[in-house]
Formats: sequence, C-alpha cells, structure tokens
Amino acid sequence: MDKTIGIFGGGQLGRMMAQAALPLNIQCTFFEANRDCPAAQMGQVIDAQLDQAIETFIESAEVFSLEFENTPLADVDQLIKHKQIHPPRQALAIAQNRLLEKALFDQLDIPVAAYRAVDSLQSLEQAVRELGLPIVLKTATGGYDGKGQFVLRTADQIAEAWAELGRAKHLVAESFVSFSREVSIIAVRGQDGDVKTWPLAENHHHHGILSHSIVPAPNSAKLQGVAQDYITRLLNHLNYVGVLTLELFVTEQGLYANEMAPRVHNSGHWSIEGAVCSQFENHIRAVAGLPLGSTELIRPTVMVNIIGEHPATAEVLALSGAHLHLYNKTEREGRKIGHITLMPTDHAELTNLCRQLAEILPVPLALTTDMQIDF
Ligand code: AMP
Repeated sequence: MDKTIGIFGGGQLGRMMAQAALPLNIQCTFFEANRDCPAAQMGQVIDAQLDQAIETFIESAEVFSLEFENTPLADVDQLIKHKQIHPPRQALAIAQNRLLEKALFDQLDIPVAAYRAVDSLQSLEQAVRELGLPIVLKTATGGYDGKGQFVLRTADQIAEAWAELGRAKHLVAESFVSFSREVSIIAVRGQDGDVKTWPLAENHHHHGILSHSIVPAPNSAKLQGVAQDYITRLLNHLNYVGVLTLELFVTEQGLYANEMAPRVHNSGHWSIEGAVCSQFENHIRAVAGLPLGSTELIRPTVMVNIIGEHPATAEVLALSGAHLHLYNKTEREGRKIGHITLMPTDHAELTNLCRQLAEILPVPLALTTDMQIDF
C-alpha cells in the first residue's frame, strides 16, 4: 500500500471512499463504534468505544478525513496535535452549527433565508414578530434529514414548537423559503488550491429522506455558474481540502443556501458512474495530495436510493444500464441501504426505466414516470 487514510466514521460513505481508494493502492482505516459497519469489509475498523481508541486510530494512518459530519471536535483536536485532517477542523466546526454556518454564508455574500438565533421562548416570539410566518425552527446542532425541525405556520404553534425543541437551547428560526426545487452543488479542492465542481443535482425527498437525484439538474445552465461561485468562495475561504457539498433552494429570487456538508454526499453518488472522476475518488485524491480528476459528466444520470428494504438484485441488474450499490446494511424502515444508478440515453428510455424500477422497488418511491432530464 502506498498510503493509509484514516476516516472518522464507517458508514456507506466511508465504504465508497475506500472502494475508490483501493485502485490507487490507498488503504483506509475507520474510527467507528459499530464493528459491523458498511465500511468493515473495506478496511480495519478501530472500535471508537474502546479505551485508547483514538490513539490507536491516530497510529493507524498517515493522513485523516471523515465521512460523518458530527465527528466529535474533541477527537479531531487530539488528532491534529499529531497528524493532518482534511477537510480542516474549522469547516467541520462550522458545519456542525447552523448559526455559525449561516454567519459564514452572510460573510461570503451567499444568500440565505432571513434568520434569528433563538434560545428562549421570548426570543422565539420575537423572531416570529420580526420574520413573520411561516418559519422553520431548527436545532442549531445535531439535526439531520429534517430531524430537530418544526415548521411554524400560525402564532398559536409557538408554545408547541418550543415544547418540542426548546430543550436543545441553541436554535435557529428561519423564514420559510418558498422554493420551486432543491439542488446541491458538490465541489472538491486539492492541496494546491485547484477547485473542480460537478454539475448541479436536483434532489427529490420522500418523508424527509433523499429519494432520488437527477444530474444535471434540468434547466440549470444559469444556476450552475452561480452555485459554482458560492461553493468556490466557501472552499477558498476555509482553505478547504477534499469534497464539500452545498444544498440550495431554487427560488424566483435566485439560489438560497440551506446548509453545507463537509464531506461526500448522497446527492453525489451518481458520479461513480456518471462523471469522469467520482466524488469519492476525488476526495481520496485531495486528501492524499494527488492531482484531481475531471468532474465532467459522462451522461445524464439518475440516482435512486434504496430505502428500508432490498429489491431483488437480479431484477435491478436486468434493467438496461443500471448499476446497483449495496451497503451491507440490515433492513430498517427509513434507512438508506443502497442506491441504483440509471444512465438512460434518451427520454423514452428514462420513462421506461422509471416505470420498471417503480415495480421492482419494495418501498414506493416518489419516482415520477414523467421525470425531466436535459439530454
Ligand atoms: P435541512 O435539515 O436544513 O436540510 O432541512 C431538511 C428539509 O426541510 C430541506 O431539504 C427542505 O425541504 C426543508 N426546509 C429546510 N429549511 C427550510 C426553509 N427555510 N424553508 C422551507 N423549507 C425548508
């Protein structure tokens, strides 16, 4: 092996990073409390719950990264006394706190919904007065996939919202954005400052969980440049190394940033087959100090998440051009356990594939058979 990269977390993102690393003769180790995690088949798992685990992990690799954005900062602090981590600690700290994140977006002139910090019932009432309704109340830390959120539509919900989330102490109230669609931009920055960006993904959710992404996001030629500019500002400001994701709302007034993830992202899984170099390989290249690969699109791509239950493998693979990625996770309602990549050549093939897929997937997805893609 030429190099070993230690990764905080051992979920499917770590698994796919390690899959991309192996052809480069790069091995990964994982700091993870679950020994049967998806990444376990790909490299050594250092049980995060054991005494001295962090020391063992620091010893296990030359350079470090993460696949879990709630990686404890205390662990990162211990690590950076001895070895380097990409992305930088600061990016992780900011992404773990919605208030810091929004302050950074403001500082870099990246539009965000109007917001207020909330830490008491009184400050929530004041935020409602100042911002108007509806607002989305979110915990500043610890939320994901829409958890830790309350949409306030009427003033008589204030007490209920506070009762549900007030325990968190640090909250953010933000104006409800009436968006037409949700997109994400993913970019990578190398150790030499080189930045490359993948095409925008249009993201569709079902019960708050990403169900599928369409790439390139239809009708996004103008949005691409703007989103690219925003994410480049973030990457350069943070002196970032590795892959960064920025989730955005498309509105009549333009793009609004929702949040950033300092890591590879579910809406970038399409890039394994759909781009010249995937988000996983480019992340590994960046962390290892290697030149970045092209982020160019090979063909319009649809990535469909497998949520809760496995479909029959043979039925998925019988679909023309389909690729199946399973994460070695047990089935559980609402859990992401794999994904399917479709690369249709025209609209008729796309419609046909979506219709067939809707029959194969055990859990109905918000997959429409009249999906739009720019071919
Ligand atoms: P988040 O955890 O911030 O990514 O939010 C989860 C989902 O809630 C987003 O993907 C949006 O669909 C929705 N959402 C979050 N913030 C807002 C907002 N300010 N206005 C409207 N919808 C929102």
